[in-house]
Amino acid sequence: MPTNQIQLIRDCIRNVPDFPKPGIQFKDITPVLSNPAAFNAAIEVLAAPYKNSNIDLVVGIEARGFIFGTPVARLLGVGFVPIRKPGKLPWKTRSASYELEYGSDALEIHADAVAKGQRVLVVDDLLATGGTARAACDLLEEMGANVVEIAVLIELESLEGRGKLAPFRTRSVLTF
Ligand code: AMP
Repeated sequence: MPTNQIQLIRDCIRNVPDFPKPGIQFKDITPVLSNPAAFNAAIEVLAAPYKNSNIDLVVGIEARGFIFGTPVARLLGVGFVPIRKPGKLPWKTRSASYELEYGSDALEIHADAVAKGQRVLVVDDLLATGGTARAACDLLEEMGANVVEIAVLIELESLEGRGKLAPFRTRSVLTF
């Protein structure tokens, strides 16, 4: 992906200080979504490393992981599975709780969403402390899936989420 495309995505990320709590600088990706060139570049660059990786399934984490994960799944020609906040999924679920940069929460996945041995790519918009993605990966591996990598648009390096995710591998488009 040409550097100017990556720069375009970076330029579209809006920093919102003190949201949702004092001291948190929120990375707002909505200007990336509303700019067709930036949105297209974001999807292309997220999916590109996996075109020959024999991915079976993309798993997106609610909510912004759905926005990026579904077009990535389509580009890779595979299905998409949502991991959601508690109480949202209608069928039998498995769940995991986790800590995040501003509070704690839990995640759920449909119990039959992933088959043993499936090669899964986990997609989210942003990696902060890594708690969310870690819970998602642990849930997937418990179900017998093989987490190939975690792909995020933004990595907040100072929060060291990548270390929390190890030995799962993380790939980010932009670091801050
Ligand atoms: P974490 O579990 O700490 O890695 O947090 C990652 C999740 O929280 C992602 O789903 C992000 O969408 C969201 N998140 C955490 N910190 C921020 C931030 N500074 N700006 C935007 N989203 C964030």
